[in-house]
Amino acid sequence: MPLPALSFEFYPPKTDEQRAQLDKTAARLKSLKPDYVSCTFGAGGSTLSYTPETIERLHAHHGLDAAPHLSCVGGTRAELGELLLRYKAMGCRRIVALRGDLPSGMGRAGDFRYASDLVEFIRTEYNGFFHIEVAAYPECHPQADDALADLRNFKRKVEAGANGAITQYFYNADAYFRFVDDARRLGIDVPIVPGIMPISNFTQLRRFSEACGAEIPRWIGKRMQAFGDDVDSVREFASDFVASLCQRLIDGGAPGLHFYTLNLSKPTLGVLARLE
Ligand code: FAD
Repeated sequence: MPLPALSFEFYPPKTDEQRAQLDKTAARLKSLKPDYVSCTFGAGGSTLSYTPETIERLHAHHGLDAAPHLSCVGGTRAELGELLLRYKAMGCRRIVALRGDLPSGMGRAGDFRYASDLVEFIRTEYNGFFHIEVAAYPECHPQADDALADLRNFKRKVEAGANGAITQYFYNADAYFRFVDDARRLGIDVPIVPGIMPISNFTQLRRFSEACGAEIPRWIGKRMQAFGDDVDSVREFASDFVASLCQRLIDGGAPGLHFYTLNLSKPTLGVLARLE
C-alpha cells in the first residue's frame, strides 16, 4: 500500500547550532515530499518571535509548505490577530490551532479559554482563508473529565470550524481506531491524522508521556530497560516497533501520518524506511 500524506513537526530553534540542526533535518526530510511541515509555538509570550522566524525559514530557505502552530493560552486577541496577519502575509494557508499549556508559575489567562475559542476567532476574522488543524486525544487529554467529555470538546472545535485533526502520539493502534469510530458516531467527519513519535531517547519519552498522558506499553518499557546502554539495539527495536504501528494505521485507513521529529531526521527516516 502506498504511503499516505506525510507531515513533519519541528520546534523553533533558538540558537545558531539548533538552526543548523533544523536545516539539516528539513533538507533530509524534504526528500520524502511531505504534504506540509509544521512548527510548534511556546505558550506565554517569551518565544513569540521564534515560530514566525522558523516558518519564514522553512518557506524561504527550504521551499516547504510550513504551518505555524498557534496556542491561545496567555495570549490576547490583539497579539494573536497580529501573528495571524503576519502568517497571512507570509503566504501560510494552514494553522494548527491549540490551547497550549502555560508554564507553571505563569498566571496570565489571556483572552481565550479553549482551543475552540481560537478556532472560532480565526474563522470569524479570516473567513475560510486558513485551513485549521486541531489536536485530538485517542487516549484522552489528561485534564478531561472523561473520554466522552473530551470527544465532545473535540467536536466543539470542529463545529467552530476546524478542517482536520492531528492526534497526540500513542503506541496503541486500537486506541486510535476506537477514537475515530467514536468520533464518526458523534458526527465528526474531518480527517483525523495520527501523530507518530519515533523513539530516540527513551528517558525523555517517558517524561514527555507522563506530562501529556500518552501511554507507553509496559512491555516496551521492559524491553528498553533490557537493552540498557546498547544504543544500536534500542534504535533497531524502536524503529521496528513504531514502523509496525504505522503499518497498522495505514492498513486501517489512517488519512496521513504526522511525525513529531524533535528536529531529528534519523528516527523518522528509520521508521519510514521500513514502510517502503
Ligand atoms: P483544548 O481543545 O482547549 O482542550 C483542553 C482541555 O479542555 C481538554 O481536557 C478538553 O477536554 C477541555 N475542554 C475543551 N473545551 C472545553 C469546554 N468548552 N468546556 C470544558 N472543557 C473543555 N502545545 C503548545 O504549547 N504548543 C504547540 O505548538 C503544541 N502543538 C501541539 C500539536 C499537537 C498535534 C498536539 C496533539 C498537541 C500540541 N500541543 C502544543 C499541546 C497542547 O497545547 C496541550 O495538549 C493542551 O493541554 C491542550 O491543547 P488543546 O488545543 O487540545 O486544548
